[in-house]
Amino acid sequence: MEEIRKKLFYEQKNGYDLIDTEERVALESYCRDYMAYLNASRTEREAVANAIAEAEELGFVEYEYGMELKAGMKIYKNNRGKALMLAVIGKKPLSEGAVIAGAHVDSPRLDLKQVTAYESDEMCFFKTHYYGGIKKYQWVTIPLELHGVVALRDGSTVEVTVGREKDEPKFVITDLLPHLAQEQMKKTLAEGITGEGLNILIGTVPYADDGKDRVKLAVLSILNDMYGITEEDFLSAELTAVPAFDVCEIGFDRALIGGYGHDDRVCAYAELKALFDVEAPEKTCVCLLVDKEETGSEGVSGMQGRAFDTFMEDLCEAQGVKLRRCYEKSFCISADVTSAFDPLYPDAYEKNNNAKVNYGMGISKYTGSRGKAGTSDASAEVMAYLRKTFDENKVVWQTAELGKVDLGGGGTIAKYMANRNIDTIDAGVPVLSMHAPFETVAKLDCYMTYKGVLAAYSAK
Ligand code: MN
Ligand code: MN
Repeated sequence: MEEIRKKLFYEQKNGYDLIDTEERVALESYCRDYMAYLNASRTEREAVANAIAEAEELGFVEYEYGMELKAGMKIYKNNRGKALMLAVIGKKPLSEGAVIAGAHVDSPRLDLKQVTAYESDEMCFFKTHYYGGIKKYQWVTIPLELHGVVALRDGSTVEVTVGREKDEPKFVITDLLPHLAQEQMKKTLAEGITGEGLNILIGTVPYADDGKDRVKLAVLSILNDMYGITEEDFLSAELTAVPAFDVCEIGFDRALIGGYGHDDRVCAYAELKALFDVEAPEKTCVCLLVDKEETGSEGVSGMQGRAFDTFMEDLCEAQGVKLRRCYEKSFCISADVTSAFDPLYPDAYEKNNNAKVNYGMGISKYTGSRGKAGTSDASAEVMAYLRKTFDENKVVWQTAELGKVDLGGGGTIAKYMANRNIDTIDAGVPVLSMHAPFETVAKLDCYMTYKGVLAAYSAK
């Protein structure tokens, strides 16, 4: 009976029961590099810039239209500093399809409004407009740092980073003390802190003179000293407040990683590393780091934009291949995070189908909400292909459905790839406290996601 049971039942195993010492060493080393990347990549722009820096060190060159493409060539195309496409040209022509992995590098955050600075009762604040799906109450009383760019009339761009370095000041959104919060505490979590209430405290010392808004004047004069900017320059700026927590190990066993922006830089880094490590691939391997996923993948730097098609069409043209012929034979891993089962909130999950921490890369045949609304739903054949590829390459993986059927749901860039006539499946790292200022992932799952993408890239 035991034999039959073994043969017939699908049984999942904890990843730590499946890997050897050698692999544990490899995953630690991989995760050290990932932690450094995440710590230094707090915005999509920084994630792109840091990826380009690493790629160039490894011999990737900026793609220029008309370039001759030889097998083994490593190229990248920077999309406005906010998204990135990289490729290693395969031995086979693009008419046989490409292997694509796509992740996003934007994360939920608090963007500054265009008219952002204001003074109230001799305290100065920045007004914000949150980006992506956040639980607003999580963003008060945590240290924040400021990142972004100010584009000036003369065409130059000023980069702003305050709070990342140890000795730099940070910022905060205050909350009401419990002693006076009787009314606030009666509100729901959704209403207790409002979007219009997410104003960041940035200064309190008045300018040494008479007149109105002296604190704001003093703050603006500091900014003018630091960056040469005026209040009007904020109108053409992209400044964002992000949590100022350092990325760190979590737990006595150090098996988890806590930090801001795992969604989805954890998958972005996995595919980036996999592309760096793939050796002389058969098919052309493409790695996408895209923007705007958290707001619906719209716009020039989002996956619904045409930048990807242009890039691929250019590559196809260089080989005399039609883009649509390439797409229909291509395979794409939409590498995005999924929710890990959380025993503190068991009611939100359905255990049999939810991803678990330390059980490896999470494969989602479909995403979507309720009746699978909005999912591209990968075919059984695509799922089988991935099963085979992962099993052959000893990738620890699991299936991953996002919580209980009726509770909600979510989407990724998968459908935008699938709509292009590319076989696409969602796969990525399970996350605890997804979209919180401080998210948690398991090292083993990060490493297996890298291994998974590498297996797909290396396929014959
Ligand atoms: Mn995501
Ligand atoms: Mn997300």
